[in-house]
Amino acid sequence: MSENKDRPAKQPEHTAPTERTGKAGATGPTGSTGAAGGAERARAGEKSGAAAKYVYDFTEGNKGMKGLLGGKGANLAEMTNLGLPVPPGFTISTEACKVYLASGSEPATLRREVSAHLAALEETMGKKLGQSDDPLLVSVRSGAKFSMPGMMDTVLNVGLSDDSVDGLAAQAGDERFAWDSYRRLIQMFGTTVLGVDGELFEEALDEAKHGRGAATDVELEAPDLKKLVQSYKKIVSREAGREFPQDPREQMDLAVRSVFESWNTDRAKLYRRQERIPGDLGTAVNIVAMVFGNLGPDSGTGVAFTRDPASGHQGVYGDYLQNAQGEDVVAGIRNTVPLADLESIDKASYDQLLGIMETLENHYLDLCDIEFTIERGKLWMLQTRVGKRTAGAAFRIATQLVDQGLIDEAEALRRVNGAQLAQLMFPRFDDDAKRDLLGRGIAASPGAAVGKAVFDSYTAIKWSRSGEKVILVRRETNPDDLEGMIAAEGILTSRGGKTSHAAVVARGMGKTCVCGAEELEVDTKKRRLSVGSRVVEEGDVISIDGSTGKVYLGEVPVVPSPVVEYFEGRMHAGAEEAGELVGSVHRMMAYADRRRRLRVRANADNTEDALRARRFGAQGIGLCRTEHMFLGERREMVERLILADTDEEREAALGQLLPLQRADFVELLEAMDGVPVTVRLLDPPLHEFLPDITELSVRVALAEARRDHNENDLRLLQAVHKLHEQNPMLGLRGVRLGLVIPGLFAMQVRAIAEAAAERKGAKGDPRAEIMIPLVGTVQELEIVRDEAEQVIADVERATGTRLKLSLGTMIELPRAALTAGQIAEAAEFFSFGTNDLTQTVWGFSRDDVEASFFTAYLEKGIFGVSPFETIDRDGVGALVRDACRAGRATRPDLKLGICGEHGGDPESVHFFHEVGLDYVSCSPFRIPVARLEAGRAAVLGA
Ligand code: PEP
Ligand code: MG
Repeated sequence: MSENKDRPAKQPEHTAPTERTGKAGATGPTGSTGAAGGAERARAGEKSGAAAKYVYDFTEGNKGMKGLLGGKGANLAEMTNLGLPVPPGFTISTEACKVYLASGSEPATLRREVSAHLAALEETMGKKLGQSDDPLLVSVRSGAKFSMPGMMDTVLNVGLSDDSVDGLAAQAGDERFAWDSYRRLIQMFGTTVLGVDGELFEEALDEAKHGRGAATDVELEAPDLKKLVQSYKKIVSREAGREFPQDPREQMDLAVRSVFESWNTDRAKLYRRQERIPGDLGTAVNIVAMVFGNLGPDSGTGVAFTRDPASGHQGVYGDYLQNAQGEDVVAGIRNTVPLADLESIDKASYDQLLGIMETLENHYLDLCDIEFTIERGKLWMLQTRVGKRTAGAAFRIATQLVDQGLIDEAEALRRVNGAQLAQLMFPRFDDDAKRDLLGRGIAASPGAAVGKAVFDSYTAIKWSRSGEKVILVRRETNPDDLEGMIAAEGILTSRGGKTSHAAVVARGMGKTCVCGAEELEVDTKKRRLSVGSRVVEEGDVISIDGSTGKVYLGEVPVVPSPVVEYFEGRMHAGAEEAGELVGSVHRMMAYADRRRRLRVRANADNTEDALRARRFGAQGIGLCRTEHMFLGERREMVERLILADTDEEREAALGQLLPLQRADFVELLEAMDGVPVTVRLLDPPLHEFLPDITELSVRVALAEARRDHNENDLRLLQAVHKLHEQNPMLGLRGVRLGLVIPGLFAMQVRAIAEAAAERKGAKGDPRAEIMIPLVGTVQELEIVRDEAEQVIADVERATGTRLKLSLGTMIELPRAALTAGQIAEAAEFFSFGTNDLTQTVWGFSRDDVEASFFTAYLEKGIFGVSPFETIDRDGVGALVRDACRAGRATRPDLKLGICGEHGGDPESVHFFHEVGLDYVSCSPFRIPVARLEAGRAAVLGA
């Protein structure tokens, strides 16, 4: 049970603050208050000598007890207490499961408790489990705190035996029904409890149908089913090495144990890892009196939603299947009818169901989904829960409920999250366009991508260089595919899940990805993929939807997201074409802005990004990376600076750069007039501005062979050799550059100061902040600061302008974080560079590890999400928290921000809110997500 340790754990619905996955938020697996409460109760019971309580009647629970009773059990209890028609039953708690999983046996008192609850159930039902003339049958169903659909076991019809099958037939007046129920029990029990290969039962069923010339099992008659039961029993005895148990209580106990054990099957573990559900929660087991939807045309089973989970609109949504049990609906043997048709089939049940749906919505104040069964005209509720919905519906429903006066703004903010908003911001396939579905896989990284299918990275790179759009199709990807993935519009694999290499890397790049599309046969040698008889050759166009996992043949037209059009100001929220969704997003953003304490800034270093950031709601620039201003034709000037042998040469190079830098800053300060702009002095190692060592060596060698010496190239090569570093990330960069290259930082500071003076002269309101990167000790900062202050004073004198430029530093090295109290003496602000801080705290080179061993780490559950994506609260986060405290102890008005990638990650935004930062800074496109999550953090923390 070690998976998911030390990583954000899934939180209850509506309190989950996140993001990208929409599912994390707390700090560890103990975040489950319900379960923890139960554990305490159980322990307290043990200590005091009183027996711990492990079993709860439905009348004893409520919807707040999901940790202890699982989602299904808690909601069955809630419905029971609302007076809704729930078949009677009881729940064995997750605590019992935990004891079983830890010790290998059920808690000593469990049997006695179950007996007492079973006796009460028998009393209510007026019959005994498996009673021969009129058997009480029960279902044994798993139910964890977080829904894990289809991952764990369920056994229906428990209590049937050779002895009671005739009794059931007599009671139901239907022999076929009784024998069908019995064969289903043996089949389900055989596979889930006794571990028999399910195929064997399917084969026997097929044989029975074949012998009868029947197309479906509904056509099998009682004698056929009787024979089938005999075949099934033989299969069990042969394969499991034991007879199918005839004792009803033994059936029930074994089924309970098997549900406990199903918590730890490989597929359940994998699912939890992917969904970031803690591994130590355990499952509850619900034992419920069986009701039958397959007792004739006046019976049936169905699912219902109180609102449309796709649009959020209220109405009658769902499906109904007459004369059937739940599993028939799933198996799709017969076609369901729309729920509305139930009105003409059974008006009384229909009306009652609609009344219950209204009760549930008004009680849960949210969209609920429901499973129900009608047994001979009597309606039974088998399950309800707050239903899953699409991202768009989440926004619509939240504002609809506000309009209905059912929830307030703060609650509305709890009902949506940044991941959903991010999803709404991706371009998507045109809903109205025709499309040809080829297959589907896992929606691994959202977006809509169209391109020619290519089957190796080399072709992806080659074709994309010649202007083609390509989709890289692989069975699975590995680090060698990286360049091809970069070149492609999207990535499609036939193997692997949400944590596969393709998925992780694509998400990191923000590239569309569908993975694990298993029905697709990918043949990289023949350069084609096939689905059944359909074949896609290399060069054929395909379209992949990373938000739904669907793969289409041919080009599906892509339309921009209306939500982005709105943020860009190209569509007004009230306009007709904007529709309800944009209106909802607009309102939710307003709620978030009203509530949030955190300010949101942008990482931007050019006017275009800065202006977009402002349109998206940025309240300043938190990181302007000046290195981006030294590229293109300016690279040569930097080269000259690096090659300079004399002060004159160096000053000449700096003199050339100064006016260009000044112009950059004037533009930026104008675009961000009235709001802060944090300019970071040069950070990357200088070799990044020089030609590649291999290319240059070849050039020099070729020139030498031609006896055509190029003095400049030779000098460059020497410089490249001199500046070459084994670990440039830890080498001559950041503040270290400022300290060893005379005049470099001074030139940048002068450019900022002169730009600010110029903007002031133009009656602007420039608010530049100067930021020193990669400081490890306060002495480094003091030296740079003294020099900067002199330059600023110079500019103030020369221009006769008073400039209020603040000076601060990035905290991106562990030593800086650990000595933050000292550093704050020389810094007016801190901006946490959590990219470098994560690299240096973990000792991970970001450029290398994400594409190499992170997949293995994710698969092994070492972490559930890359620490470069979501802040590692316990490690990097702890340093951030302590540095904030120490910094503010030295300088109470120290301004605190963060400008690493985590600034736009929903879950991390919650952390930064908690530790009291003033702002987060992120790339322009993530600003709306950060605003929304900052608002959610405020209401969730309130
Ligand atoms: C950081 O380290 O978090 C940061 C913002 O700087 P860069 O990513 O440019 O190194
Ligand atoms: Mg950095």
